[in-house]
Amino acid sequence: MTSHIMPTYGRLPVTFTHGKGAWLWDDQDKRYLDAVSGIAVCNLGHAHPAVHKAIAKQSKTLIHTSNLYQVAAQEQLADVLTARSGMDNVFFSNSGAEANEAAIKLARCYGHQKGILKPEIIVMEKSFHGRTLATLSATGNPKVQKGFEPLVGGFVRVPYNDIAAIKKVVANHKNCVAILVEPIQGEGGVNIPADDYLNQIRDICDKHHLLMMLDEIQTGIGRTGKFLAFQHNNIVPDVCTLAKALGNGVPIGACLARGKAATLFSAGMHGSTFGGNPLVCSAALAVLKTLEEDDLIAQAEIKGQEIAESFSKKLHGNPQVLEIRHKGLMIGIELAEPCSALVAAAQQQGLLINVTNEKVIRLLPPLVIKNKQIKFLVKTLSDLIQEHTQPM
Ligand SMILES: *Cc1c(COP(=O)(O)O)cnc(C)c1O
Repeated sequence: MTSHIMPTYGRLPVTFTHGKGAWLWDDQDKRYLDAVSGIAVCNLGHAHPAVHKAIAKQSKTLIHTSNLYQVAAQEQLADVLTARSGMDNVFFSNSGAEANEAAIKLARCYGHQKGILKPEIIVMEKSFHGRTLATLSATGNPKVQKGFEPLVGGFVRVPYNDIAAIKKVVANHKNCVAILVEPIQGEGGVNIPADDYLNQIRDICDKHHLLMMLDEIQTGIGRTGKFLAFQHNNIVPDVCTLAKALGNGVPIGACLARGKAATLFSAGMHGSTFGGNPLVCSAALAVLKTLEEDDLIAQAEIKGQEIAESFSKKLHGNPQVLEIRHKGLMIGIELAEPCSALVAAAQQQGLLINVTNEKVIRLLPPLVIKNKQIKFLVKTLSDLIQEHTQPM
């Protein structure tokens, strides 16, 4: 059978029909433990009753009106997001890339207001910010950009976790207006920077009047053991983007801004037809309420620690395992050799994992993962890694 889907993804030959919590079932009724969560999206797992209820209830009364009118659920969601983040205002989009587009436009707008007509944004090597033209241009991965030149200009790239490199650029580029960075690089290989990296960036931004813009699309909504990853550092950025887990699967993104950045856009400067409609905002409100009521963010910290320690024990002494990194339930196991073959091998065993940057096994299990499921995850994957790295 020929597929009529554009082949932008190398897909595994499996079709899921339903799920519950961390489990998924395929059309042959085989069960899988989902340690990917749709790439950090389904933090509450699959078919969560609170999300189901919110969507069902909202769809009975109103799915969409327009941003031409007041949208009550959008106001409520913005209230919750700003209260929990320390930010002031929110623009709602439908995806992460669009949230970052809003951030990039804010940075340029900020520059123009200061009389900088060719503003530059500092971005990082190995970063990922999305697939639209501006966000792929900001992304630090040549594979994402190749074939789509000319790229959008106005980005200056430095290595990740390198404060000296940022300082050098800031000193030499008078047009710098912002720094856009992930608190932990997800697609780039679960790269965790120095503990004070974000604090230092905050200092540089304060000193040189730059906007500190954090892409929390993957790290946000409890994934790392705090509601937002920057809350580990006791700082607040000027701009912060969210998407992925915000709707637990309904498409919603958000660009949060604070202080001077919060009021840069005026009517007509940016927009979205669907952005922040009643349906997606109701779902997101249910997500945030459930995270809090079930104390899931604290559990992300505890479970992540347990998973990382268990892997360390099981894989101890294997020289092919270079590093096990984690913050909360954002986990990376870096091997010495490419290991994408492990994805299909794990799928055979009823376990869904991800490999990013060729050599890094990335685990993003739902925050609701249970102890027995953690044991299955650690045992199955450790055995596979041992087999893969010590061929007979
Ligand atoms: C997934 C991701 C994006 C892009 O989000 P989309 O919803 O796919 O557009 C941007 N930044 C980071 C850090 C991401 O993980």
